[in-house]
Amino acid sequence: MRFHVLTLFPEMVERVLNTSIIGRAVENNHIEINTVNIRDFTLDKHGKVDDYTYGGGAGMLMQAQPVYDAWRSVAGCGPSDQNAYRDSGRRVRTVYVTPQGIPFTQSHAMDLAQEEELIFLCGHYEGIDARVLEEIVTDYISIGDYVLTGGELPAMVMIDAVARLVPGVLHNDESAQTESFHRSLLEYPQYSRPEVWHDKRVPGVLLSGDHRKIASWRLEQSKLLTRRRRPDLYAKYLEQEDLIRRLSVNKRHNIHMMECLSRGRGEILVNDQEALLIYDRECRLCMLSAKDIRGAQRLMDVMPRETQTALTSQEFLNELLCESMGFETRCEFRQACYTQRNPLPVRHKDIRLLTTGDLDYLAAHYKHENREYLAQRVRAKALWGAFLEDRMVGFAGSHSEGSLGLLYVEEACRGQGIGASLEAFCINRHLELGYVPYGQIHTGNEASIRLQERLGLYLSKESIWWLEREEKGDK
Ligand code: SAM
Repeated sequence: MRFHVLTLFPEMVERVLNTSIIGRAVENNHIEINTVNIRDFTLDKHGKVDDYTYGGGAGMLMQAQPVYDAWRSVAGCGPSDQNAYRDSGRRVRTVYVTPQGIPFTQSHAMDLAQEEELIFLCGHYEGIDARVLEEIVTDYISIGDYVLTGGELPAMVMIDAVARLVPGVLHNDESAQTESFHRSLLEYPQYSRPEVWHDKRVPGVLLSGDHRKIASWRLEQSKLLTRRRRPDLYAKYLEQEDLIRRLSVNKRHNIHMMECLSRGRGEILVNDQEALLIYDRECRLCMLSAKDIRGAQRLMDVMPRETQTALTSQEFLNELLCESMGFETRCEFRQACYTQRNPLPVRHKDIRLLTTGDLDYLAAHYKHENREYLAQRVRAKALWGAFLEDRMVGFAGSHSEGSLGLLYVEEACRGQGIGASLEAFCINRHLELGYVPYGQIHTGNEASIRLQERLGLYLSKESIWWLEREEKGDK
């Protein structure tokens, strides 16, 4: 991922971001930080980039021209204007860090982490001429309700929060999933050696080795801490829990929404008697359900504009989405979920985590997804291969929103239980992570339905539908 920082003080940004974990991520090519000195673009022969504000008032303002030209040097658009940038089809989000923006949160970080490239614009003095902001800025974001002298610290705060979500930046990819704000809870208290310090003992449960008890203690501590320190966040957590309970009345049909919430991926955007909209920011996926057309209409108004994919629970929603929101593809699925806690036996023993070296095989054999998506799943450590005499003969894994799938077994090796082993293996991995494993099966795919039933998964009676903004092939 590439971060461009438009600034008057590039050395300030470079010094900080070349240090510690972010510095190491740059060294290891997980991310790239490109600072651009706005002053290099001024046409003023004295190197000036600021001037007085029209209408009077305290302080100086950064002028439009140098900011615009600095931005153009990285946005890569033609000489004219924003239209060139739009028409190029290249979508470079440009964040102006400003106290007048919306407050930065972990969910913004998750959203921005989906981009391949981001531009951060740092203001100084009294800010920047409004005309250039109108032309280039896509997001106005603040780091809090106070005023700093310049945008470099806010930009670095945001870059740090986004960069640590990029796969490979943190050594332990799971740590971002157990931290504060995951599932709208603050993180539980943590302890390290020694066991006793200042007469204070580490809580006994953490020394018990019983992982289930530890997890439940941590959840309780998280709840207590959040209720005490952040009642606003705690109210969100309670709303999610209440919704999961309501959805569980028809668990098989609603499992995607329940898991999206309980795995801490979903944000509730609409939740009442008429309509429900859960947004998975990481996948830019809306999960929608509505009682009638009136409820559906409200969902359309609230849907985030970046939404790429929609998962609908009622067929009448599809027409509306296609007509008014530009969705195209439509595939019908039934959900299959594994509701037991006990792991499944895995007969085929040689199952390995796949790497980028396996991408050619994956792309050659899996026709429902493109290579980039498969590469993304490999980077997320979400694809597993079955090997026979050291040769891959099949694979399976999980999709970006969390359902199990991507199952393939070479024709010559079918009927030997390899597909069942791959799926059982993936189910067990999800159980270890505390998930309810579930998948989505094309209606009419009888072979897959039989496999699900053999493994002990329950199928939903009702269908759900996938809709996409661009033609991307079947899921
Ligand atoms: N006159 C501006 C106002 O009242 O909104 C404040 C300008 S501030 C002194 C200079 C620059 O610092 C801003 O253009 C912005 O880039 C950055 N900045 C200051 N406080 C910030 C905050 N809380 N969040 C994000 N950026 C901030």
